[in-house]
Parts: sequence; C-alpha cells; structure tokens
Amino acid sequence: MSFTLAIVGRPNVGKSTLFNRLVGKKLALVDDTPGVTRDLREGDARLGDLKFTVIDSAGLEDVTDDSLQGRMRRLTERAVEMADICLFIIDARAGVTPTDQVFAEILRKKNAHVILAANKAEGKNADAGVLEAYSLGLGEPLRLSAEHGEGMDELYHMLRPLAEEFEAKAAMDAPEVDVDVSDDESEAGPRTPTREKPLQIAVIGRPNAGKSTLINKIIGEERLLTGPEAGITRDAISVSAEFMGTPMRIFDTAGMRKKAKVTEKLEKLSVSDGLRAVRFAEVVVVLLDVGIPFEQQDLRIADFAESEGRAVVVAANKWDLEEDKTEKLKELRESFERLLPQLRGAPMVTVSAKTGKGLDRLHAAILKAYEVWNRRVTTAKLNQWLTAMTEAHPPPAPGGRRIKLRYMTQVKTRPPAFVVMCNHGDMLPDSYSRYLVNGLRADFDMPGTPIRLTMRDQG
Ligand code: GDP
Ligand code: GDP
Repeated sequence: MSFTLAIVGRPNVGKSTLFNRLVGKKLALVDDTPGVTRDLREGDARLGDLKFTVIDSAGLEDVTDDSLQGRMRRLTERAVEMADICLFIIDARAGVTPTDQVFAEILRKKNAHVILAANKAEGKNADAGVLEAYSLGLGEPLRLSAEHGEGMDELYHMLRPLAEEFEAKAAMDAPEVDVDVSDDESEAGPRTPTREKPLQIAVIGRPNAGKSTLINKIIGEERLLTGPEAGITRDAISVSAEFMGTPMRIFDTAGMRKKAKVTEKLEKLSVSDGLRAVRFAEVVVVLLDVGIPFEQQDLRIADFAESEGRAVVVAANKWDLEEDKTEKLKELRESFERLLPQLRGAPMVTVSAKTGKGLDRLHAAILKAYEVWNRRVTTAKLNQWLTAMTEAHPPPAPGGRRIKLRYMTQVKTRPPAFVVMCNHGDMLPDSYSRYLVNGLRADFDMPGTPIRLTMRDQG
C-alpha cells in the first residue's frame, strides 16, 4: 500500500517536526526560524502498518513579503500535484491567519484530498485555535502535537481508508482492467472505484462475553487459529473475513490473542485492550453476556466507543440460554435506554455466538450503523430544519440576551459533525444542544451514531 502525503502549511506551523516524526530520523532540520528547510523534501514514512512517501513543503526562506505568496503558492501547488493526500497544518496556538486562508483556498481549488490538522494542540490553550480551524471549510481539524506525538493514532485512522482507496485505484488503473468511467467527465482516468473496502469492526466486551466464539463463528475456526495479521500496534490484531458477503476487518485483542497464542498472559486482559481496538474500528460491536448485561465494564466500553466517535451496535449474546425471551428483551431495552442515553437508538440485537443464531441480524445492524455513521445531510436541508426547530422551540434568552442560531452545516461524517453559527453560543444550555442532537437523530434517521454539534460564535 503506497501513496504520497504532502505536508503543507505556512512556515513555522510544525511541518518539519511532523515530517521527522513520520520519517523517524532527523532528516529535516527543525528550527525556530521560519522555513529553515529548503524547498520540497521527501522521505519514507511509516505510521503503524502504513508505509508511504511524505513530502515536506517547507522552504520559504529568503522571501520578502511580496514574493512570499507567489512562492508559497507555487511550492504548494507543486506539492499538491505530487501528492495523493495533503496534510494541511495550521498552528493551533496562533489560530487561523490570513496566510492559512490562502492555503485553504489553494487546496480547495486544486480539489486535493485534504486532511486539516491543527498542530501544537497539546494542552488546553490550543482549544480556541482548533475550533477556529473549522472556519477554513475543510472539515473537522485533527488535533496534533507533532512535537509530543499526540494525534498520531487519529492521523493513522484518517490515512488508512484513503490509503486503501488509492491501492484499489492503482489496481483498477492497471490497463487490463475494464473500468466503468461513464459518470466521470474528466480525462484524468478512472475515479476512485466503488469497490468495497473491508469494513473495520471491533468486537469488545468483558472477558467471557463470547467474543472469540463470535469471531470464530464469523470467520470460521481454522482461519482464526492460523491467520491473525500483524497488528497496527503490538496490542491490536485483526483478521480479515467475509461476514455474510461483506468484507470485514475484525479487530480484537483478547479473543484472538487467546486462540492465536500471541501472548500468554490472557487472564490479565483489561478493559484497556478493548479500548485500543476501538480506535481502529469504524463500527464497534459491544458484546454483552445476557446473563450479566450492562455491568460497569460494558458501560465504560460503550461510552468510550461513543466518545471516540465510532458507530456502535450492541449485541446481547448467549441468547440461547434465555428462557423468557420476550420479557428479557424488554428488560434489556429499558436498561439500555436508561444507562446509555448517549447512544440513543443504537441498534441492539440478540445473538448466540455458539449456535450462530441471530448473526444475520448482527450483520444487518453493522451495515446500517456504518451507513448512518457516513450519512451526509445537505446544508439546505439542515437550515430548513434549523429554522423549524428554533421556531418550534426558541433558544432561551439567559440574562435577557437572545441567543441566535444563524445557520448550520455538516462539516464531517464518520461520525456526523455539525457546526451551528450563532451568537452567545457559550451561553446555550446543554439541554438545548440535546434538543438539537435528538432532533437531528430523529428527523434525519441517524439512530445510534454519535453526533457532534459545535456552536461557533460569530460575536
Ligand atoms: P515548519 O516551518 O512548518 O517546518 O515548522 P517546524 O517543524 O520547523 O517547527 C516550528 C517550531 O514549532 C519549532 O520550534 C518546533 O519545535 C515547534 N513545534 C512543532 N510542533 C510543535 C508542537 O506540536 N507543539 C509545540 N508547542 N511546538 C511545536
Ligand atoms: P471471550 O472471553 O469474550 O472471548 O469469551 P469466549 O468466546 O471465550 O466465551 C466464553 C464462554 O462463553 C465459553 O465457554 C463459550 O463457550 C461460552 N459462550 C460464548 N458464546 C455463547 C453463546 O452464544 N451461548 C452459550 N450458551 N455460551 C456461549
């Protein structure tokens, strides 16, 4: 899997520091003086199991203010042309500057694959800058600290699906492959193919919930025994399998390691193992033992999956052991609503990993959760909706000051994230935000997925 990543951004935002971190040696010079590195430089980067070429587009030394923009533009355009993905960095401590806006404009015009990152984001005093980055209109900013190595997991997570796309595209660009480009006007060759890439899921739950039994059932025992793939980190391993015709990459820690004998200290498995697997997943299956459902550990895991922004499916396992299924189901649903309100409407299915009963429901629930997690709502629809919502139930006027919600837009999917432009946003009570989030869920059919809603103050 190979692709080229260009790191772009104005001088001194930390491009070379990140370059060094990705390349792993002191190839690029780091200095406090803006732009000590010259021109574009390339290195072989590694991030988890991803290997790629990284281009650092520093090199704006010796420029007068007049020529800065011109050079910057040329250099950035060159980097963009060479790259598959651009990592556009701003300095979270400095906030968005006019130069950053110039960059954003270049990247938008070039129609590049852009990942926006707010660097130097360690600590609280970067929060404002991170939030400001939304205004660049390039989606949700990734919080990075190149110097301290923070945010690298998230960067990995953003790069991985793109990397897979490029790999698939490269395969399809091969001349002997017949590709349907009928809806592509450009001459640049086939578009990103629609070929399905494996859906990344994690199966998590307390020890003995039945995780390995379930995964075994999904992929067939022999393959699990022989086939764990080297993990992204030492602690998370995955197997690829087709689950009822859907290619999936299943992340787990405990269950697989046990069977694969990757490590001996199985009994020591802690919640944190499960938490790690969540990081790599798109959909998290929280597996409960119906005999002892929703204990502290299950709640913690589900809550973590939500706060990490993953789509969640709850599967109540060992259903074969239940006698009064109707009564039990009712009870489970009630506990779920009460204990995990933040996952309102998340699908809950009953399964028996042992007999395989209910796996079709689980499969359907995973696909649905994934679809919702990727849902995009148009700005026009959102604003119609926002008007209706505020008319039905106007925001409060704390201390006589009216809070105006002006307009909103979806800035990101996976999970869906929305920004509402407003005044006095900081005074908006949480209950009103919940009203909006629950409304979004209900009106745009987005059950279960975490929904992010940010108020952006416009003074
Ligand atoms: P470039 O001009 O964009 O390549 O920026 P450099 O990588 O040379 O970094 C500029 C300055 O910012 C250096 O002093 C770095 O040590 C500092 N820096 C880079 N990354 C971070 C970070 O994550 N946090 C903080 N606080 N400083 C950083
Ligand atoms: P893990 O620790 O979560 O990986 O759990 P295991 O897959 O090792 O399962 C723990 C125990 O529960 C084993 O004895 C399994 O046979 C049993 N088990 C798993 N799934 C089911 C199920 O659906 N029904 C029943 N009756 N037992 C199950």
